[in-house]
Amino acid sequence: MSDSVKWWAPRVVAAVLAVEVVAMIVISLPWHLPGSSGSDTALDFTAAEIARQNAFRHALLPWSTTSWLLSVAVPLVIGFSPLGRRLYDALHLKRLWYVSVPLLVFGLGLLTSLITVPTDVMAERVTRRYGLSVQDWSLWTRDRIVNWALMSLALAVIALVLIAFARKWKQSWWLPAASAAAVLVLGVSFAYPVLVEPRFNQFSSMPAGALRDDFMKLAADDGVPVKDVLVADASKRTTALNAYVSGFGSTRRLVVYDTLLKDTPPAQVRLVVAHELGHASEDDVLHGTLIGVLGAALGVVLLQLLLGTRMADPRRTAMLLALIVAATTVSAPVQNFVSRRIESRADFHSLQLTKDPRNFVAMQHDLAVTNISGLDPSWWRVWLFATHPTPPERIAMGRAWASEHGLTVPPQR
Ligand SMILES: [Zn+2]
Repeated sequence: MSDSVKWWAPRVVAAVLAVEVVAMIVISLPWHLPGSSGSDTALDFTAAEIARQNAFRHALLPWSTTSWLLSVAVPLVIGFSPLGRRLYDALHLKRLWYVSVPLLVFGLGLLTSLITVPTDVMAERVTRRYGLSVQDWSLWTRDRIVNWALMSLALAVIALVLIAFARKWKQSWWLPAASAAAVLVLGVSFAYPVLVEPRFNQFSSMPAGALRDDFMKLAADDGVPVKDVLVADASKRTTALNAYVSGFGSTRRLVVYDTLLKDTPPAQVRLVVAHELGHASEDDVLHGTLIGVLGAALGVVLLQLLLGTRMADPRRTAMLLALIVAATTVSAPVQNFVSRRIESRADFHSLQLTKDPRNFVAMQHDLAVTNISGLDPSWWRVWLFATHPTPPERIAMGRAWASEHGLTVPPQR
């Protein structure tokens, strides 16, 4: 490449990728779904339920929010100050850079994890006091260690690849690096159900019986090929109720928590499964992954615009981590917005499939009470953290669907 080409090439590629991310979001999201506004919390939740949910969040959120703030602030402060380079130098000594870089990444991850221990312990104690968490401290600690190891491993691979490419290709490192980032996101999302999820839970096929037959028939009616419904042993950690779809292609799986199969009325479990079939039939995981693929490639090109050939310097590893944390935090509101739209579509799908708004509303109510979900979170919490619409919004959609189809759903309270 000539010098003039070098100057504009990353800018053009960044612009093209940014347009593609926006186009992908606009094309793959539903923009017209029936009434998820005009929710009336008092119609479906008793004063006691609302009070319990408020008390829980009042006790939990100071701790969990402080943990989140620290987990963002620690990498930013270290990475954007001379401290990052000093730490690298202290670790480096006479080692090879590709030994020092992973050491620094695992070390900074450990530091961040240790700094958030006190606030995370307090948050865990609150969730136990409310009966939501049932795990012991050894499982809690084990999860933390596995989480740290997996996150550090992923970040170390990213840092090593970026620095190695920048050292090898000097000016044009960002092109192969952006391609590598895209392949990495695609591969991790594909392999996640078989590589990462088994590190935390055991999965078994749902036992044969009327309930399983009903789910398989529901999937067949929906035109979604489902080979199996898996049950995760979530009850070793939590009493929360949940289900999800992960992977795509040959790794796609529909998972329900064992907690959901314990006491939940079958008609409500059926609605949860119908919601997950919505994710499967719309290929939400694949679309989300493709947005992630384009976003990762865009992130690498932005790195080129920010750092250029300085990316080859392993002393900037802490700064690289800070940039990744900053980019993830800044893009969280967009990711959450996309997620909330996708979740609304899956809710709508479950209503269309089951034509059972009464149990839909009952399920949303019971799930919110059992999981002690926030009923009316502040706008900035919605932006930063909410991957799903609020329970009153979801219930409002059920009611809207019912009235559009000439049905009425009585209040839950
Ligand atoms: Zn969902």
